[in-house]
Amino acid sequence: MNPTIRYITSQLEGSYSPSEAIELAFAVVEETTGLTRTAILCCKDTQNIPNIEIILQRLLKKEPIEYIFGHKQWRGLDLRVTPDTLIPRPETAELLDLIAHLSLTHARVLDIGTGSGCIAIALKQAHPDWEVTGIDISEEALAVARFNAAQNKVEVNWEHVDILTDEIDHYDLIVSNPPYIPMREKTTMESNVVDYEPARALFVSDDDPLLFYRTIAKMRKSTHLFFEIHEKYGQEVKQLLDELEYIDTHIIADQYGKNRFIYGRTQA
Ligand code: GLN
Repeated sequence: MNPTIRYITSQLEGSYSPSEAIELAFAVVEETTGLTRTAILCCKDTQNIPNIEIILQRLLKKEPIEYIFGHKQWRGLDLRVTPDTLIPRPETAELLDLIAHLSLTHARVLDIGTGSGCIAIALKQAHPDWEVTGIDISEEALAVARFNAAQNKVEVNWEHVDILTDEIDHYDLIVSNPPYIPMREKTTMESNVVDYEPARALFVSDDDPLLFYRTIAKMRKSTHLFFEIHEKYGQEVKQLLDELEYIDTHIIADQYGKNRFIYGRTQA
């Protein structure tokens, strides 16, 4: 095996599973050398990786590799991520396919709690005729989203909005992946998430875990509504939409078979 991969894997073994350690080792070498996995495996000399000990120290403290290198590849986009933004998840990308199935044209679309801007940017890239807006309560996240739109050469409107207090316009479609993890679950979560990702993007009060869903749905500011949800709250969020007289409501599972999305609409 490549000696650098062997070295990094051996250093990480105590803190990560064998498969995670080897994945991280390849990711570190790919990122720092620009070499492909095949090149690393077959022959290239990958000794003298700059800052390797610092990178290892950070990984041993469970800092996500995406924050160490400052970016994440997601749906063909290269996205800056910082501790002010969640790291885009694979399941969140499935929202894009669900939305594409609606076959909307010239739609006005709003992404609430846009974070790195991943959903808004991917939607605009896939549907250039749409007018897409991304909003967030965090100015720091919006700065990252703006950078990502420019870097990926798409035009999205970015606005600083607190959805719990501010008014919004009407849109053809609203999508949101709001904070949805009850605080009490924090103790059961991995430290790479809890210690590094932004708490205000993840957690809601145990007393009112559906706060963002209810606030957004009650506004009735869109024809189509898509939410990412906590796998345990599918029925509750669906019921909420049904009570608010949304039609065609349904729960959709993600690639891991977990209830992860909800759809509803306000008009036939
Ligand atoms: N799915 C994310 C996680 O598991 C949470 C995203 C969110 O709270 N909106 O960490």
